[in-house]
Amino acid sequence: MLMGLHFLLTYMCNAECDHCFLYSSPRVQGTFTSSQIRKLLDEATKIGTIEWIYFEGGEPFLFYPVMLEGIKIARNLGFRVGIVTNAYFATSVDDIKLWLKPLYELGIADFRISNDPYHYENEKDNPAIRAQKAALELNLPAAEIHIEKPSVTIDTGEEQHKGEPVIGGGTMFRGRAVEKLAVGLPQKSWEEFTVCPYEDLEFPARVHLDSYGNVHLCQGLSMGNVWKTPLSKLVKNYDAGSHPICSPLVKGGPALLAKEYQVKHDDKYVDACHFCYLVRLALLYRFPQYLTPRQVYGIE
Ligand code: SF4
Repeated sequence: MLMGLHFLLTYMCNAECDHCFLYSSPRVQGTFTSSQIRKLLDEATKIGTIEWIYFEGGEPFLFYPVMLEGIKIARNLGFRVGIVTNAYFATSVDDIKLWLKPLYELGIADFRISNDPYHYENEKDNPAIRAQKAALELNLPAAEIHIEKPSVTIDTGEEQHKGEPVIGGGTMFRGRAVEKLAVGLPQKSWEEFTVCPYEDLEFPARVHLDSYGNVHLCQGLSMGNVWKTPLSKLVKNYDAGSHPICSPLVKGGPALLAKEYQVKHDDKYVDACHFCYLVRLALLYRFPQYLTPRQVYGIE
């Protein structure tokens, strides 16, 4: 049951992290207008199962007044609202409160702050830590998102996998992470990747929306376009079995996706997402309405 809509308020970001699966940077385009948000939130009410609206990016605080307007509309329609930020704006605790007080007054239910080695070096005092402190002082429900750079350890668990290398840290090997972080890591045979490990592509609980109208089931894997078909109709009519990319992914993971469309590939990959992302990249021009926008595949 679809319960959450995540607005990628903008693809633009002040940062350009190696692990960013959306290829965000200060140079990219793709930002919602407040009237687009209003239209989609009206559509969200028609779906009937949506509880949560998130504003994220990119970095949503780069378009603070638009984000605020979106939150107001969402709250007036009765949705619970969350935000994800890297807290780049967090200078002094007092000044951060100027940014955060309106969010508290609007009843934000979840405030997530990226605080990890991709965003900040200094763990004792950095913008994320300051923002979390200010948020807690304002009673804004804040929590940290922490993703470590990939590290390799040896599996000491079940007999079946004992002694095999395990990649830790939580980085998803999609988007820029494939280009920047996958090289040199241990790999497994492509034939092992027979399931999508992270997304429920058949019955998604949440999707991401971008200003181009794409409804992302996973990064760059679109259900359809809301500027062509109303969001509520798109969601109601969605059937993974008749989606040319999701159908093989649901039945047999990235391995079946590659087989089905006879995509040429290597023998080994870091994980299922690494393989899936590169197969999708190879299929981009064949399924442009489903594998989009190109910028999240690193193509200008
Ligand atoms: S990249 Fe592919 S395998 Fe990984 S979560 Fe997304 S759809 Fe699933």
